[in-house]
Amino acid sequence: MTFTDLPLFSKAFLRREGHMRNSKNTSKTFFKEKSARHIVIWKGKLLFEFKKSKPTLLLLNNVSTIFKGLYSIFLGELDGKYLFLWDISKSGKVRGSQEFLGTFNDTEKNSHEDLPKGSYFCDLRSLLPFLSEVDASICASAKGIAEWQRVTKFCTNCGEKLIKESFGWEKSCKNCKKKQFPRIDPVVIMLVKKGNKILLGRSHQWPKKMLSCLAGFVEPGESLEEAAKREVFEESGIKTHNIKYITNQPWPFPSSLMIGCTSEAQNVKIKVDHNELEDAIWVSREKVFRILSGSDNSFFVARKGAIARFLIEKWVEGLI
Ligand SMILES: [Zn+2]
Repeated sequence: MTFTDLPLFSKAFLRREGHMRNSKNTSKTFFKEKSARHIVIWKGKLLFEFKKSKPTLLLLNNVSTIFKGLYSIFLGELDGKYLFLWDISKSGKVRGSQEFLGTFNDTEKNSHEDLPKGSYFCDLRSLLPFLSEVDASICASAKGIAEWQRVTKFCTNCGEKLIKESFGWEKSCKNCKKKQFPRIDPVVIMLVKKGNKILLGRSHQWPKKMLSCLAGFVEPGESLEEAAKREVFEESGIKTHNIKYITNQPWPFPSSLMIGCTSEAQNVKIKVDHNELEDAIWVSREKVFRILSGSDNSFFVARKGAIARFLIEKWVEGLI
């Protein structure tokens, strides 16, 4: 089945020009071009402006003085513009609450006194339903790479401190010379079907009343199909078969690639592993339809833009 629409982040708009990242001279040339644009991130939140209350990723024309002493990352080219990313997480001049920083529901807009008026650092997750596909795609790369840069400080081979050259994505070890590249963690996310019902569950840390598809990390030496079967069985006691790949979605929270599948349940009795899940239930197509249309508020599902929402909607439409 091919879809005319896809989950957010799935279409690429950026020409990554990966071979240019570590060619210092090339990146420097781009950097000096008039068409260079600068994206800013602070503690995982990207800088947006709001046009008629619609969020737009802010592309600065000039290098701000607040970037002094920081490394920049060359993200790629978009419509003739060369995009560079700056992480100013250490700047102390950010206004607004940090209480919900890094949580599931950070709706705070943080401003910076040296950045343009009307620009705000916003949590990508909270903006998902409102972003253009182009902005979303750039944000996914920017957020993913910034987070990897933040947490990857030491060599995984010898433990020495890693060094990074400006513009590049990778880091390298001065001691053993091993290079480290941004990593992606594959996650299977399953729409488990049984007749007219699907299996939905909720994690302990999710907002109240939220339910979604079951998901889990693929382990070393495991195929996607086996991971899909194992995760569902471990979390809910439901055995599955007939696993079908549907679509996938880069999910930079912080570094997952979500692989969306459907499967058929072979039993109905749920046995929740409460270490993994708070609850899991079977929900009928009619009920899910009412939830999606807003006429039933007994629970809600993942936000528009997320692959879980995509899978659920396509099932309600009878397409998968
Ligand atoms: Zn090393």
